[in-house]
Amino acid sequence: MAANKRDYYEVLGLERNATDDEIKKAFRKLAFKYHPDHNREDTAHESFKELNEAYEVLSDRDKRSVYDRYGHADPGKSYGRGFEDVDISGFGDIFDAFFGGSSASAHQGPQAGNDQKTNLTITFEEAVFGCEKELHISRIEHCSVCHGLGSKPGVNPTRCPACNGTGQIRRVQQSIFGRFTNVATCSRCHGEGSIITEPCPKCQGNGRERVDRTISIKIPPGVDNNAQVVMRGEGDAGSRGGPNGNLFISLTVKPHAHFIRREDDIIYQLALNFAQAALGDEVEVPGLAGKTKIKIPPGSQTGKIFRLKGQGVTHLKRSGRGDQIILLTVLTPEQLNDKQRQMLKDLGASLTEQNMPDPEKRKNWLDGAREAFGD
Ligand SMILES: [Zn+2]
Ligand SMILES: [Zn+2]
Repeated sequence: MAANKRDYYEVLGLERNATDDEIKKAFRKLAFKYHPDHNREDTAHESFKELNEAYEVLSDRDKRSVYDRYGHADPGKSYGRGFEDVDISGFGDIFDAFFGGSSASAHQGPQAGNDQKTNLTITFEEAVFGCEKELHISRIEHCSVCHGLGSKPGVNPTRCPACNGTGQIRRVQQSIFGRFTNVATCSRCHGEGSIITEPCPKCQGNGRERVDRTISIKIPPGVDNNAQVVMRGEGDAGSRGGPNGNLFISLTVKPHAHFIRREDDIIYQLALNFAQAALGDEVEVPGLAGKTKIKIPPGSQTGKIFRLKGQGVTHLKRSGRGDQIILLTVLTPEQLNDKQRQMLKDLGASLTEQNMPDPEKRKNWLDGAREAFGD
């Protein structure tokens, strides 16, 4: 077969250095010329088939480079999918416009299943550490009894008598442009080429059924709110051998009581009283992996931040972790007893501008917040 095959470039009337664009243009021109709906010469169908095959190879970078190297002799590869399988939907418009028919609609190849979408809400910790969850979805699957064939087990579908198994009905029609063949999907078998004589009792011949499924999903550590996870092939089943659709899961991460997440950093607001901030202290702060002791230097102001390197969330797409950022807020007491009030009065009377931080260096809470939130 390979021996008498024409060179693909020759088929398209192109030089070997033709650009993708030139290949596309040449194909469109010739496809129009040879399309069997349009061209009644006996050789048109063969020419169209040859053209499609040449185009399928030359329009694909990988296939073209293999062809350039090995020609038709490439071992183990067969590019000729043949006329029926080639997607010519792009020409439908042209032919419909000319002939008012549905010329290319007979294409009934494998069909991919629909994608499924679902939502999943997880906790802050589950997002940080990863988790395994169960999803409850309702999807289309191949019928468990007939495995998608549609026939009662043991009874094979029979060839469709209306289209003789081709799935297509060809009708010759007369128009002002001349005689042409209109190809339509067989309405009896819906393009399948076979009909079911004894339908499967489970799916009534449909071959597919809606099933409620519980699917386990592993959420990797580091996912964030509004992330989308894809489970390939977990959508609806394809038909006629087509691939399954995918399952898309939109994640919602519940907020944490103490931590705010900014990308892979977690922010913790540490509230200290005025005395702790003025005198310094050693305090425990909660973190993702337990408590950490940190030293508060004397004279710490609201807005001061402490950064615990690598104590944040695991990076999803690279190694390492973000940081934990501790943002200090000094609390002013609201309820005071007489003794405390007197002590503060005395303290207040004794304080001078010398006791206070240099106005140049004073940071307000917003500066710390800006640093913490990275603005
Ligand atoms: Zn069935
Ligand atoms: Zn049929």
